[in-house]
Amino acid sequence: AITRTPLIAGNWKMNLDHLQAIAFVQKLAWSLSDAKHDFGAVEVAVFPPFTDLRSVQTLVSADKLPLAFGAQDVSAHDSGAYTGEISGAFLAQLECSYVVIGHSERRTLHGETDEQVGAKVSAALKHNLVPIICVGETAEDLEEHGPSAVPVAQLRGALIGVASAADIVVAYEPVWAIGSGQAATPEQAEQVAAALRGVLAETLGEDVAAKTRILYGGSVKAANIAGFMREPNVDGALVGGASLDLDEFASIVRYQK
Ligand code: PEP
Repeated sequence: AITRTPLIAGNWKMNLDHLQAIAFVQKLAWSLSDAKHDFGAVEVAVFPPFTDLRSVQTLVSADKLPLAFGAQDVSAHDSGAYTGEISGAFLAQLECSYVVIGHSERRTLHGETDEQVGAKVSAALKHNLVPIICVGETAEDLEEHGPSAVPVAQLRGALIGVASAADIVVAYEPVWAIGSGQAATPEQAEQVAAALRGVLAETLGEDVAAKTRILYGGSVKAANIAGFMREPNVDGALVGGASLDLDEFASIVRYQK
């Protein structure tokens, strides 16, 4: 059977400027090395604001820190008259490995549609960035359509332009659980993650479905991470608020200990 390396990803959102980012990443690397964290066993990635990426890249490469990093969004376009946008080419040049796409805050605050999310996923893959495709239902969706319908539809939409067996990550983030302190139960996360893996099997084939990591996100903290990680279809977490607290985030990374 394929073993999927768990991924713990910290979405900083619009927090920590480039100086704070350097201090935070240094301390995080120290904290994890003190604890003899096995980075091969659990991958750790941080997602700072765009303006921090150059600083984080410099630090990670100079000190050979075993941390991955990426951006919180990407343009669907390569270059041109798109004021305020950031191209996947630019992110790849800064050695980003990943990019978060379709976060619920982008969908609700910036009106991103499944179609736009799909175009961004294609742009990321074109530049060899691994997209972390975020899907998740609101409380109203949950009441109206049940647990899996909306995330499944969002994932199908995001994969429309994706033809090949590409390296992707999916993050199931129920909107009602994000920043609310009200995490889903491990069973709820597993149910939707299994449905999402079914979509991957249908659209990209069994092999891709078996190797793709599906993360849970929404009020993950040190106290609840282990429960999610015990579920067979949950391969890690996308962490918002708790990723800004060094000790808390380091404890989440060390969920096995
Ligand atoms: C997120 O925004 O991706 C998230 C999971 O936030 P939080 O952990 O704060 O709920």
